[in-house]
Amino acid sequence: MNKDTALVVFSGGQDSTTCLFWAKKHFRRVCALTFAYGQKHVKEVDVARAIAGKAGVDFDVMDVSFIGRLGHNSLTDPSMKMDAEKPEGGVPNTFVPGRNLFFLSIAAVYARERGINHLVTGVSQTDFSGYPDCRDAFIKSLNVTLNLAMDEQFVIHTPLMWIDKAETWALADELGVLDLVRRETLTCYNGIPGDGCGHCPACKLRREGLEKYLSMKNEQ
Ligand code: ZN
Repeated sequence: MNKDTALVVFSGGQDSTTCLFWAKKHFRRVCALTFAYGQKHVKEVDVARAIAGKAGVDFDVMDVSFIGRLGHNSLTDPSMKMDAEKPEGGVPNTFVPGRNLFFLSIAAVYARERGINHLVTGVSQTDFSGYPDCRDAFIKSLNVTLNLAMDEQFVIHTPLMWIDKAETWALADELGVLDLVRRETLTCYNGIPGDGCGHCPACKLRREGLEKYLSMKNEQ
């Protein structure tokens, strides 16, 4: 297994782009794997490809559009309106059940074929939505399962697990890519890159984090 190489589960959004540059700092070689899962905004894949090109990392796209057909969610179903807020006692309809389970499992098989055992994902337990597959316990459990499933020693790195959006901006700044993340990533649920539409839940969270970070920075 090649300990010098990391595979990043990469969407072209703020979090995974920050992780991509985090990986570039910690590993000699970085590969980015993007999943096409039937998301409404297929532009995501183009954004991811462009950022990977700028970062100078290997890039590949895996078609997993079956995920959108398995369950009902507002990221893949054009007829569904996205929840603006987390409903009481549940997850918002932007939750794609099993997404990180599938992504990381497929990434591990992909990595194994290429002799890579370091996987990087931008999941965060502090994420506002409370998606169950963003939690640390799930990632640790899956890491054990993947090792048992393939008799390998994968290491899943989660640089953003315990930090909030403001701290994620701080990390991007520390890595020297604040402007790139701000201008070129796509986080917006309405498919608008950079600062986005400004009013969807993802834009709101992103903007509030950026404002908090910039005001902290200006006070220093
Ligand atoms: Zn938006």
